[in-house]
Amino acid sequence: MVTSASSVASPPQAAGPARAIGDRRQLERLALPGTPWETPVLINRSGEPGPSVMILGGVHGNEPGSWAAAEVIADWMPDRGVTVVIPRANIVATHALERTLPELGDLNRFYPGEPLESTEAFPMQWMAYSIVELAREFEVGLLLDLHESWGFFNERTENGTAFLGQTVTNGADVSETPRIEAVTDTVNALISDREQLVLRDRDRNRFATVTQRPPFDPSWPTGGTSSLGLDQFVPGLVPVLVEMGQQGQPEARRSELHQLVVESALRHEGLLIA
Ligand SMILES: [Zn+2]
Repeated sequence: MVTSASSVASPPQAAGPARAIGDRRQLERLALPGTPWETPVLINRSGEPGPSVMILGGVHGNEPGSWAAAEVIADWMPDRGVTVVIPRANIVATHALERTLPELGDLNRFYPGEPLESTEAFPMQWMAYSIVELAREFEVGLLLDLHESWGFFNERTENGTAFLGQTVTNGADVSETPRIEAVTDTVNALISDREQLVLRDRDRNRFATVTQRPPFDPSWPTGGTSSLGLDQFVPGLVPVLVEMGQQGQPEARRSELHQLVVESALRHEGLLIA
């Protein structure tokens, strides 16, 4: 039984205090601390000036390659700048191995979320709010939201979210597309023909990236957008959706490919050197 948001007495915090780990350059905080949905936020501070990059895994609980990768990435220390990693954004759903649960709501349809004082919110509306707050606090310039689809985009028999495997998409600002294409070009040179990543902004069949209301409760009044709309709420943020295909591709490989994309992005953004 999952607790509903309305059963939490007082408003939770977006993110709790920081706890230093190891050499103190890595900090751990909790998003929505003290609630059933609290989840670790790992902050890796190089100590050198540079960009902030946020990485989300486990936004959907039936996409295990995303959090398997993010849990590895959470321990990477950048050479410059800062990474902010939330490996299991919807942690209850990851334990249930379900995309989400009706009482939680779909995090990736809820941005910019609902303020924590809003007691009628779905818990994942609070999480969306917390992610926006963290992105603003760290002045995140690039957000990599790791997901999995079923089919591979290049093998699709129809358009739809079931065939987004091996795609990378950036948000509405297509002037940023070359920046993302540099990342996919780097990764594509390292992987097999079937694994090749498609930059959806370069594909005329781009679809399903705009505002959607929560599918399980069409009467819900507030709706929201996916992470690809986060640039509307965090100045300077470029959102990127990374999808790996589950069909005929083991979880371990999906995790490796997610890690390759993130590593390549961190190199192109100047956080990783050498
Ligand atoms: Zn997903």
